[in-house]
Amino acid sequence: MARHAHEFSCTNCSWWNYPMLSDSMHGNYTIICGNCKHEHYRVIKDGVVTEDRHNSAMNHGDTIHVMKSASFKTKKEEKKKGMIIKLREMATAGLMR
Ligand SMILES: [Zn+2]
Repeated sequence: MARHAHEFSCTNCSWWNYPMLSDSMHGNYTIICGNCKHEHYRVIKDGVVTEDRHNSAMNHGDTIHVMKSASFKTKKEEKKKGMIIKLREMATAGLMR
């Protein structure tokens, strides 16, 4: 049973959440934002979160509480980019000395 991180931004507080999902997840899931506790009603198909809201034809799945430590104000990608820029600046500063 494989697990993978899913990335989604909360429509309420716009923070980025990274819950761990299992490939076996299939049905109506409720994902709770790790920052503001906003509830997102989403259909998950084979471990992939879709844009669909709860569907009566699907089984009822669990409630996924995103941990506070898996919730970030900045998207992970952006954070990485920011760090690279910082490292470049540091390198440049080092060369200028
Ligand atoms: Zn939120």
